[in-house]
Amino acid sequence: MNSLQAPVTSLKGVGDALALKLARLRLETVADLLFHLPLRYQDRTRITPIGMLKAGQEAVVEGEVTACDVVKGRRRSLLVRLRDGAGILSLRFFHFSPAQQQQLRPGAQVRAFGEARAGATGLEMYHPEYRLTGNAEPPVEEHFTPVYPTTEGLNQPRLRALVQQALAQLEADPQALPDMIPEPLRERFRLPELQRCLHLLHQPPPDTDLARLASGHHPATRRLALEELLAHQLSLREVRRRIQADGAPVLPSGRNLQARFLTQLPFSLTGAQRRVLDEIAHDLACPAPMLRLVQGDVGSGKTVVAAMAALSALSGNCQAAIMAPTEILAEQHYRNFCTWFEPLGIDVAWLAGKLKGKARLDAKAAIADGRAQMVVGTHALFQGDVHFHRLGLAIIDEQHRFGVHQRLALREKGEAGGLTPHQLIMTATPIPRTLAMSAYADLDVSVIDELPPGRTPVKTVVVPDERRPEVVERIRNACSEGRQAYWVCTLIEESEVLQCQAAEATLEELTQGLPELAIGLVHGRMKAAEKAEVMEAFKAGEVDLLVATTVIEVGVDVPNASLMIIENPERLGLSQLHQLRGRVGRGSTESFCVLLYHPPLTNGTRKRLGVMRETTDGFRIAEKDLEIRGPGEVLGTRQTGLAQMKVADLERDADLLDQVSALARTMQEQAPEAAPELIRRWLGEEAGRYGQV
Ligand code: ADP
Ligand code: MG
Repeated sequence: MNSLQAPVTSLKGVGDALALKLARLRLETVADLLFHLPLRYQDRTRITPIGMLKAGQEAVVEGEVTACDVVKGRRRSLLVRLRDGAGILSLRFFHFSPAQQQQLRPGAQVRAFGEARAGATGLEMYHPEYRLTGNAEPPVEEHFTPVYPTTEGLNQPRLRALVQQALAQLEADPQALPDMIPEPLRERFRLPELQRCLHLLHQPPPDTDLARLASGHHPATRRLALEELLAHQLSLREVRRRIQADGAPVLPSGRNLQARFLTQLPFSLTGAQRRVLDEIAHDLACPAPMLRLVQGDVGSGKTVVAAMAALSALSGNCQAAIMAPTEILAEQHYRNFCTWFEPLGIDVAWLAGKLKGKARLDAKAAIADGRAQMVVGTHALFQGDVHFHRLGLAIIDEQHRFGVHQRLALREKGEAGGLTPHQLIMTATPIPRTLAMSAYADLDVSVIDELPPGRTPVKTVVVPDERRPEVVERIRNACSEGRQAYWVCTLIEESEVLQCQAAEATLEELTQGLPELAIGLVHGRMKAAEKAEVMEAFKAGEVDLLVATTVIEVGVDVPNASLMIIENPERLGLSQLHQLRGRVGRGSTESFCVLLYHPPLTNGTRKRLGVMRETTDGFRIAEKDLEIRGPGEVLGTRQTGLAQMKVADLERDADLLDQVSALARTMQEQAPEAAPELIRRWLGEEAGRYGQV
């Protein structure tokens, strides 16, 4: 057993109670303490003359007590005046004991550490750490003093002492924490050695550049950040390797079936769709599971690509399943696939969380015995109680956040015959290349970089809400010419109830203003069947105007709708606005999007809405979004695991990502044994286990 893997209770003075507190910080082993890095540092390496102290500065001062009094202000406190040759400072204690009062009597020599602030008596330190100094002067610190993230009931000195014990243990047994990046690679990538970094970060010598440490740009921090990103990337690659070590059904292109499908379509595929389909066909013909992400802007025609891929699976006597993130979208896919596939003699089944009772049992039975060839649904599809007869292809729509664990779980869905299904993930969220390499190191990426012909870009206008009556007139005109419109009520502070109420109020108001129109309503609190009915009526042209919450954000496709009003667009992010706007501009008539905002606009919002007015290009919008919101938000890092990073920060360390990818590839070739150890070190035991096959 590696000595650093010993539990924290193996350290001196750590009992169960302390171990519990440490566990709150996710510190379970001695090694965890080594990787628990300081938030910041204090300079206790020298004594600052009182006269040179500035408000806000943390410093060690030393002097003689000249007065010690209990003073009554708003709060009773003990006020100690401390003087050195250069100035006078007050130490103030709101909680104090008679013993302290006695200790700090005039004439006492005191050394104190704290933050100086401007107080009632000039510069003051509240509750400084202090000790009496005598002749046997204790030395000042040799290193900068680390301040760690901590938890209630665990003070800094205690935590510091524990880290010191861990460091001592490391020094006694350096073999216990080998540098997993081999030396030649460290040299090539100019990375300082691991243990040196740890020592430096826990006890920086006085010549260390504290500013660089604080900003995270010190080489020691960078080395650890890089190692952490590397561990994440290796774990994704391990997941990929592990999935691909399984067998997958070899699927023929299904050319016959596909050709029959294509002749039914009222259009021919774009070049980009054909190219991506070739890439998919190539993967499906291999005996290892496909792991492919298809990126294509809103309206680029991903559904048809999914359908074509599904036909390959069906031709290979396998089932195919498509999962959508919302019930509305799943419903729409269901309708599409029924229209497309039933004429080809293919059975399409439907399964969502809200399907209950006998209907649910029937659907599950058809999926289990293989009668259902094409299965459409929500995440309910991939839950434990759903068994497939022979799932050959799992398609995940608009779920770029579909995580690694879910991908691993999909392996079990192909169980019969011991084959793992191919995986196709489709997203309209374009991600800059370097980020994609980190977040999706386990996926191959295809891009549909062309929109179907004949689309006229949506014209976007930004209008303050006092011009609402004009906007209502605009709807009247569009609908009188046979076109349809959306009115989108945006989120009110995370409350679905309020959002739905707002939509209902809007419905009422618009119904009064536009009595001649058929107006429908969809929101998240309606029953699935009700939603479906309204969507159906809208699609059939029976509803002119659809008032909706952001439930229609993703995927909904009604080509005759050419006008969209988005109320309070200032509440939404760019990607979301882009997704919403993508609901119009799907037919050949010119489409408009009205961003009806509530003044005044902040500068940031003005900029965001300006981006929407200027471009309909999803990649440009994504880049802007990334600039404005940062990678964490854009990627939905919680599920990619990138959110729980200890040292690395995707924004600050974005420039490391290229290096990380190169290093990951090289290490897989040259030091494959390093991956499980690095993964365990940074992502924990559990991830370490799935890193080992
Ligand atoms: P998304 O990529 O946003 O999921 P969809 O698959 O919903 O886009 O397709 C948007 C619309 O474009 C649909 O009405 C679809 O039938 C149509 N479409 C798809 N491919 C083509 C094509 N090659 N030519 C013309 N229209 C197409
Ligand atoms: Mg779609």
